[in-house]
Amino acid sequence: MAELIDGKRISKEIKDELKAEAEKFKAEGREATLAVILVGDDPASAVYVNNKKKACEYIGIRSLSYELPKETTEEELLALIDKLNNDDSVNGILVQLPVPDHIDENKIIRSISPSKDVDGFHPLNVGALLIGEKGFVSCTPAGVIQLLKRSNVDIEGKECVVVGRSNIVGKPMGVLLLRENGTVTIAHSRTKDLKTICKRADILVVAVGKPKMINAEYVKEGAVVIDVGIHRMDNGKLCGDVDFDSVEPIVSKITPVPGGVGPMTIAMLMDNCISSLR
Ligand code: NDP
Repeated sequence: MAELIDGKRISKEIKDELKAEAEKFKAEGREATLAVILVGDDPASAVYVNNKKKACEYIGIRSLSYELPKETTEEELLALIDKLNNDDSVNGILVQLPVPDHIDENKIIRSISPSKDVDGFHPLNVGALLIGEKGFVSCTPAGVIQLLKRSNVDIEGKECVVVGRSNIVGKPMGVLLLRENGTVTIAHSRTKDLKTICKRADILVVAVGKPKMINAEYVKEGAVVIDVGIHRMDNGKLCGDVDFDSVEPIVSKITPVPGGVGPMTIAMLMDNCISSLR
């Protein structure tokens, strides 16, 4: 039976470390402030924003909340971001994605000052990651690295396969594993013979966005499997991109869904907020 990689426990551990760090900064008269912008009334986005605000409260990060109507124009949103970019009391700016269709998401991402881009989506931060310079790193893949390290999974020299090449998960995930000296393959929808490639992996990270796609035929015995996917099934329960029941008996470690990668994303967002005081 595989060991479960407990994202709930590990994210709590990280948040408690950050809380202690925030208290230390507070004693020096310094406090991190995160501005969270939500445009429109998408219920899932409202839940994510609320969870982020709660995490800020727990750690001792000041959060400013901007809940804008869905009719907000691109110009109005850009003007708010500009104001926050120029506000020295604000360390981090987060625009909850997706934004309504009439707003250009790429333009919004590029308008946030790279030094306040705690989501790590700005091209300057993406570029910094690629060349190994300091910058904000996309929270979900950064969380995966923490899950591996804090579960004593050695990445150096390992065959790492990432399934998915999105800008926010797959690509930065590949670069981070490379930075940890893994030997990395990034697979995608045009990859030939995905099963054989996945079966090579000592560490398999799946961010494919397809419920339970990766089953036992894709994994090597004893591999470590990280499931980034999250889907709500017809019965209301959550599942990942990995078919947990078929994969779990043959691997050494695996993340559950829920309670694996999910809680790590917010923990790493909080880490990015505090890191601007370091
Ligand atoms: P995207 O849809 O942006 O990317 C999916 C990737 O999977 C693409 O690169 C695509 O390839 C590839 N892909 C699709 N089908 C196949 C296939 N049959 N074989 C091989 N590759 C395939 O998704 P995201 O990266 O944004 O998210 C992935 C999953 O992670 C989703 O389930 C999402 O909900 C979840 N997620 C969870 C987070 C968390 O906090 N836990 C945070 C972010 C995402 P191609 O590029 O060729 O089209």
